[in-house]
Amino acid sequence: MNLSDELDTVFSSRGRKLVSTAREFAASLADRNTEGAANWSRATLQEACAVGLAGIEVPEADGGDGQPFSVRIRVAEELARADFGFAFALINHHGPTARIATHASAEAKARLLPAMLRGDAIGCTAMSEPGAGSDFGAIQSAATRVDGGWRLHGVKRWIGNAAGADLFMTFAQTGGSRDGIACFIVEAASEGFVRRPTEAMTGVMSAGVGGFEMHDCFVPDSHVLVPPGQGFARAMGAVNQARVHVAAMACGMVAASLDSALRHARSRHAFGKPLLGHQGVRWSLADVATKLAAMQLLTYRATRLVEAESPDAVLAAAMAKQYAAEHCADAITACIGAMGAIGMTAGVPLARHLAAAPAIGIADGTTGMMRERIGAILEKSH
Ligand SMILES: Cc1cc2nc3c(=O)[nH]c(=O)nc-3n(C[C@H](O)[C@H](O)[C@H](O)COP(=O)(O)OP(=O)(O)OC[C@H]3O[C@@H](n4cnc5c(N)ncnc54)[C@H](O)[C@@H]3O)c2cc1C
Repeated sequence: MNLSDELDTVFSSRGRKLVSTAREFAASLADRNTEGAANWSRATLQEACAVGLAGIEVPEADGGDGQPFSVRIRVAEELARADFGFAFALINHHGPTARIATHASAEAKARLLPAMLRGDAIGCTAMSEPGAGSDFGAIQSAATRVDGGWRLHGVKRWIGNAAGADLFMTFAQTGGSRDGIACFIVEAASEGFVRRPTEAMTGVMSAGVGGFEMHDCFVPDSHVLVPPGQGFARAMGAVNQARVHVAAMACGMVAASLDSALRHARSRHAFGKPLLGHQGVRWSLADVATKLAAMQLLTYRATRLVEAESPDAVLAAAMAKQYAAEHCADAITACIGAMGAIGMTAGVPLARHLAAAPAIGIADGTTGMMRERIGAILEKSH
């Protein structure tokens, strides 16, 4: 039994069903992506929502599956086997959907949640800006109090799903410092909202990374998701979870690459025997399998600690993401190497996975910031 199957054994039948739905969905994506990289697609996201993948952690009473964080992690891992960008887009939509279910006003929830679960309204999380990525506390987007709500002004960049999303969970300053950061649900249909062109990012086009401008966008009080004073801490909590699912997506890409390489190396012969019979190929794939196991163990441990709301989750998530980011590209390159030229063709996803691998070390916190986090915790604890 492999490590991911081992994790699935603790899930409820509903949790296991969601993981197998994600596996089947990934297989259908892989069939569609044979021509190479896919672009962001609202229709594909809607299909995933139609089979329940937007409601994993949404409470059952609100129309979701009420499953734990670990199920979201396994769904992310399975989807990334076919396409990291799509997995990122779906999980980026699931985040605001679950948050609106648990934290939004009754009015916003009634208006937005059913459409998000169906995939008729796509959501995303907007923290980064042209001038502030790692240094999130330095964001410049500003919200000013007005009668009945807030007026938002600013620019966001590098936002997954921004290519076509309808709802933006947007972080903005209400005072001059990080203590004043709040989070607002900004609707793309609002006056003053201008979508920016999608970024041309090799390997992750299906994540629909883009940006938008807000020119005095009015946001009613009912659309305040996190009040001033709590925005920074809440964002850091969510980013900690996101680090674990980005690590899980790296595991998915490496696992799929290893499966392809093993299938090929068993069936293709060179110098009178299967490629896998040659020590050079066998040892190289043995190293990939060992790295994958280490990536998964760190990721699943972080998952367990996040789920238990343990204070150790921050360190575990940073370690899982750092390790995954550092080994993902090397592992996929070794799998391509074991396959020869065919490993670089569009018919197998390895070259696309390799192109997406640097995103593991950037999205939801760079590898440098993971090291900073780990170092700071070590400094405090010794
Ligand atoms: C595919 C993808 C999807 C994304 N999706 C989203 C999204 O949905 N929502 C969102 O809000 N953002 C998103 N982002 C943005 C992402 O979170 C930022 O790119 C990330 O936080 C890094 O910020 P930056 O790109 O501005 O780099 P910078 O912060 O400018 O960092 C550049 C380099 O400087 C290093 N550095 C910075 N500060 C320090 C320091 N104190 N010590 C040591 N080194 C340092 C970094 O480690 C990095 O190597 C996405 C990015 C990608 C690639």
